Amino acid sequence: MSDAKIIDGKATALSLRARVAEQAQAFADAAGRLPGLAVVLVGEDPASAVYVRAKERASAEAHIGGTVHRLPATTTQEELLALVRALNADTTVDGILVQLPLPPQIDAHAIIAAIDPEKDVDGFHPINAGRLASGLPGFVPCTPLGCLMLLKDYHDHLAGLEAVVVGRSNIVGKPMAQLLLAESCTVTIAHSRTRDLFGAVRRSDIVIAAVGVPELIRGDWIKPGATVIDVGINRVTLPDGKTKLIGDVAYDEAIEVAGAITPVPGGVGPMTIAVLLRNTLVAAHRKTGIALDE
Ligand code: NDP
Repeated sequence: MSDAKIIDGKATALSLRARVAEQAQAFADAAGRLPGLAVVLVGEDPASAVYVRAKERASAEAHIGGTVHRLPATTTQEELLALVRALNADTTVDGILVQLPLPPQIDAHAIIAAIDPEKDVDGFHPINAGRLASGLPGFVPCTPLGCLMLLKDYHDHLAGLEAVVVGRSNIVGKPMAQLLLAESCTVTIAHSRTRDLFGAVRRSDIVIAAVGVPELIRGDWIKPGATVIDVGINRVTLPDGKTKLIGDVAYDEAIEVAGAITPVPGGVGPMTIAVLLRNTLVAAHRKTGIALDE
């Protein structure tokens, strides 16, 4: 029987969403309108459609005024840029999220760069990435910020801890490493070319797995007592033909060694949307100058 604490991302996300709902209502009372989030979905990618519907539902529950712009898969880069510019200019829109991936005819970097950095609630704009790296206030990508919130719920102090982030994407790995560095962790960023991944994980007090390879990180890689945050969401087919979501960490093994661990599902996943709502709330307050009552 393991003594590891299971970090309940679902519960933390629910309480964050409830808090955002209260604060969004207070914003609406002061501003005469709800905080506004514009979500743009191009094409019919089924996973993206599911994410966008979940964002729509969560926004409504949290008193965030959501508009979803659904565009056909044949949309050109110019057409999407025109929509982004219109949303930048719309004073009732506080946050803009363009759902990725985009169809191949559209350059995602160009679209992200066109979003007003003050409305970039996904935190992907190079200005916001630069602000994060420079220790300036800006918008931080939702998934790594959600991971940091879960870590801070569990650890009173992160300073001085050894952390490894496995994965170096702009969306998860790199911003996660910046956040941990800002908390004064000693950070290793590992990736597909890392020579000694086992060694990097084995010496770490905090392991963030953001790889996209099912159960890559085994239980015997984990330092006893370490905190494991599993960002991975991998759908695998079981022998009976059913499918199941699993993480990048072999959970059943790691839970025997770790001090605390996030499950998949129910760990990091629910935090992402909750932080998106929170980022939109913050954007609305910054734009209007209304103070956010923390
Ligand atoms: P990417 O595919 O963009 O990045 C994956 C990273 O993992 C890359 O840096 C890659 O290295 C590295 N990598 C791949 N294979 C290995 C390996 N064998 N050993 C070490 N490193 C490896 O993925 P994302 O960052 O977008 O997502 C990562 C995971 O997180 C996915 O499972 C995704 O579904 C999930 N995710 C979950 C979210 C949530 O809300 N919970 C949100 C976003 C993502 P290299 O750079 O060298 O190629």
